[in-house]
Amino acid sequence: MGFDVASQSAGAFGPSMTDVFDKWTAFRDWAESAVLVNPRRVERTLLQSPSPEPSQVFAIGLNYREHVREVGLSDNDDRASSRVPVPPTFTKFASSLAGPFGELVLPSDKVDWEVELVVVIGKGGHRIAAADAWDAVAGFTVGQDVSDRDVQIRPQDNPQHGLGKSFKGFSPIGPVLATMDEVGDPHDLGLRCWVNGELVQDGRTDDFVFPIPFLIEYLSNVVTLLPGDLIFTGTPSGVGIGRKPPRFLSPGDEVRSEIDGIGEMVTKFVPRP
Ligand code: ZN
Repeated sequence: MGFDVASQSAGAFGPSMTDVFDKWTAFRDWAESAVLVNPRRVERTLLQSPSPEPSQVFAIGLNYREHVREVGLSDNDDRASSRVPVPPTFTKFASSLAGPFGELVLPSDKVDWEVELVVVIGKGGHRIAAADAWDAVAGFTVGQDVSDRDVQIRPQDNPQHGLGKSFKGFSPIGPVLATMDEVGDPHDLGLRCWVNGELVQDGRTDDFVFPIPFLIEYLSNVVTLLPGDLIFTGTPSGVGIGRKPPRFLSPGDEVRSEIDGIGEMVTKFVPRP
């Protein structure tokens, strides 16, 4: 069931999500005891991005052990051991955000899928200790870190992760923001991705290299995490570029992404007009 936060709270919260995130703790307190007037069923295809205007969108690479192996790095590999002590971090620019049910125009024939658990920051903060990390978090959503591999990694000496993962629509998230009590243990969630009904990724967050509190401590040691910010926490194995031969998305393909306790998104890939 759904309801309009701004009208049900008599204007105390919303209507923008930014306003709700800014007052996250008070909003949670209100939501737990609010008496709702006529909540109604919401058509899921009308759902939009649960954090439409984040100040910062972080993404973590190589955060599932199985995915590290898939892209050709092992624990004994020099490149892996030089990378693994800190989480490889990059930016997805906010203009690439999209809702959970939409169309994405393919910019090239090298576009790949990456289902990811996305952390939505609530209170946020600077220099947050791992032990206090969950207090900074609003909840979790499903994300796709859609990636143009040509733009991302073809310049091998100078990979362009930020640009390769920030074409229009390359960061769909949704369908909802699920709170901790709804998802249970965020480090024990199954996440799956299908392309045209074929299961291509089937991972579990217990395979994380860096757990979420570590990521929050690590990032907030540098930057201030702000209400509504997003952290894409990495993708499990099964991406197209890890296949032999590599496989990429074509016009007409439909990608479905799902995480236990949160829900599913469906993105349709269409040709450039
Ligand atoms: Zn990713």
